[in-house]
Amino acid sequence: MLKLIHASKIYHDSGVQALRDVNLHVAAGDYVSITGASGSGKSTLMHILGLLDTLSAGQYLLGGADVSCLPPHTLARLRSEQIGFIFQGFRLLPGMTALENVALPLTLQGIPRTERLERAEQALARVGLSERTTHRPDQLSGGQQQRVAIARAVVTKPRVVLADEPTAGLDPEAAEDVLSLLDGLHHAGHTIVLITHDRAAALRAARRLYLESGVLSGG
Ligand code: ADP
Ligand code: MG
Repeated sequence: MLKLIHASKIYHDSGVQALRDVNLHVAAGDYVSITGASGSGKSTLMHILGLLDTLSAGQYLLGGADVSCLPPHTLARLRSEQIGFIFQGFRLLPGMTALENVALPLTLQGIPRTERLERAEQALARVGLSERTTHRPDQLSGGQQQRVAIARAVVTKPRVVLADEPTAGLDPEAAEDVLSLLDGLHHAGHTIVLITHDRAAALRAARRLYLESGVLSGG
């Protein structure tokens, strides 16, 4: 599903080599965690896998197709169709309700309004927030906001879900809710990459990898 071959990333403005000759194969339906210290390259790896950034050297195959050198509009379309993102800090739009936030990725896909709202409601129901559709982010707890973000990540039915530190800053109970939802997405057939510096969270994944100074090991 996801394959990196001799992948390297250098940020030219800082001169930092954030990924060094990374080889990674994530099969369809896998649940993989990636841990590593702050600055080890975890977010860089997520940005590459999520088509938010491109490699300096090496290849990236997504679903068997080489996506290393595609133009931005093609990357944007693939990203919108195939990838769901969950971030630390949720990144919900503050002026919108939970329902509107979840429906937003469907707007970008040109789905008609009635279908958008129906699918957003279903996605919010899956994360246990049917009663909160009209609430804005500032009216929700951190854990609830992250559940809205999970609903937004899966409303497009992406094959791949990428989560970057999704439990950071949450209390243990809310973090457990988030990890349980990721378990559920895995069982529903999504391919999941969980990036975390929390070793206990990483243990939820079937396969565990480790990043140190841009070098990936363990898989
Ligand atoms: P992590 O998520 O594991 O904390 P990052 O992938 O964010 O690590 O960063 C890896 C390295 O790349 C760090 O040294 C960081 O300073 C550098 N870096 C990250 N993003 C950028 C950027 N946009 N421009 C320049 N350097 C960056
Ligand atoms: Mg990071």
